[in-house]
Amino acid sequence: MSRQTLTLSDDLYDYLLGVSLREPPLLARLREETAEMPLAVMQISPEQGQFMALLAELIGARRVLEVGTFTGYSALAVALALPADGRIVACDVNEDTTAVARRYWAEAGVADKIELRLGPAVDTLEALLAEGGGETFDFAFIDADKVNYDAYYEGALALLRQGGLMVIDNVLWSGAVADPERQDADTSALRALNAKLHDDQRISLSLLPVSDGITLARKR
Ligand code: CA
Repeated sequence: MSRQTLTLSDDLYDYLLGVSLREPPLLARLREETAEMPLAVMQISPEQGQFMALLAELIGARRVLEVGTFTGYSALAVALALPADGRIVACDVNEDTTAVARRYWAEAGVADKIELRLGPAVDTLEALLAEGGGETFDFAFIDADKVNYDAYYEGALALLRQGGLMVIDNVLWSGAVADPERQDADTSALRALNAKLHDDQRISLSLLPVSDGITLARKR
């Protein structure tokens, strides 16, 4: 198929940000602090954070699930777009990175909107279901270890209400998913999930070449 997606040069990317990014100063500061950390590559881009906040607004999200919180940028971006009674359950295993997240959530005044659950997210998703959380979430963001993506997808799908929206990050994996030479566990897991979602009639589907590739899956 012929290429229909624009390749962004650095100049064009800067232009895109210049005419569209509305990043609050606190989020910019969190992004700059995270950029100095060892796993900085795990941070989402600011335009992706803004896009996810817009998605949350569009569907009137009140209950949000996040799998993979890191230093809290995406949760903060979305929290700022939620109504006063909006809540996020944020799942992560790392006490150090989420300590940074907590600090910024507090400074932004949204700490009471975000419940951080430390521990393996597969267990947390099971616990949420056991607590009666099935079909109660409006919006879910999956951005954690790739080998467990299928489990996160199934867990999040069970937790989403009908019409709820899931955003899955890194689905193009720097292009590795289209490279047959790449057979490592992460790439294989992403490739398998992408193929599965293509045929999954439980969702409406769109895969967008935003940042490292994001899948939007709306629960039918
Ligand atoms: Ca990611």
